[in-house]
Amino acid sequence: MKIAIASGKGGTGKTTLSTNLAAFLAEREEVVLVDLDVEEPNSAIFFNRSPEHDEIIYKQIPRWEESKCTLCGICSKVCNFHAIIQLGPSIVVFPELCHSCYACSELCPEGALPMVPKRTGRLAEFQTGNLHFVEGRLDIGEEQAVPAIAKAKKYASQKFGGAVTTIYDSPPGTSCPVIEAVKDADFVILVTEPTPFGLHDLKLAVETVRTLGMPFGVVINRHGIGNDDVEAYCRDEEIPVLAKIPNSRQVAELYSSGKLIYKEIPELRNTLQEIADTCFAAVKGGVR
Ligand code: SF4
Ligand code: SF4
Repeated sequence: MKIAIASGKGGTGKTTLSTNLAAFLAEREEVVLVDLDVEEPNSAIFFNRSPEHDEIIYKQIPRWEESKCTLCGICSKVCNFHAIIQLGPSIVVFPELCHSCYACSELCPEGALPMVPKRTGRLAEFQTGNLHFVEGRLDIGEEQAVPAIAKAKKYASQKFGGAVTTIYDSPPGTSCPVIEAVKDADFVILVTEPTPFGLHDLKLAVETVRTLGMPFGVVINRHGIGNDDVEAYCRDEEIPVLAKIPNSRQVAELYSSGKLIYKEIPELRNTLQEIADTCFAAVKGGVR
């Protein structure tokens, strides 16, 4: 079972839910939590451990070999991302813009653009009891989140396979990094808050998961602030609301100090159990 926890906007409590659900389930079974919010990973704060495994993440970019180049211009024409251009008698590559699609390298008639590795971030694995934690982290200044996300997922899948429950703490938004993070999940939990901004971004996130044809449900965090529009929207759209987590100063203080909330607020154990039960039941029953 792979559960992706996502949200249309940042700051809704996605990481709070991911870490607490993972740690709660790990009290009785093996769980893998994968932090795919690679531009700003912070799940590790809740698991104060040294990594068991640490490696550098690379992506492939073209390297211009001047002596072979005839300046035919094909490479700059085929790059959809403007990551390679001709400047006078030189070909210039912008590594941060390159999506490693290989088009320029494959189509260069002179073989003047071999693909070479470039460091973009780090991957680390931690363990505490039954809980395995894999984190992808982009280097400062790097823009391409997708390769780091793909690498972290591949590592988790190769090491732990499908035998254990896996939770993806996905990046916020609705663009390529989110799609990469959630695309193979069995169930997506969209975390939102009951505010106009929350509703606006929830609608975008719902559109995304519906386009992908994935089963999903909503968790309303900070319930009690704002208004009822998110609940009305979910009702109208027949979207299951898996849980409503009340707005609470205690929750905010625990989160700020890097503590797992359900350990200090026992009522949350029932909420986490209900969320897990609904995810498992939805996947078994094929709910969309
Ligand atoms: S496609 Fe190859 S030969 Fe043509 S300009 Fe680019 S690097 Fe040079
Ligand atoms: S590998 Fe693809 S994205 Fe990168 S420079 Fe070449 S054509 Fe552009």
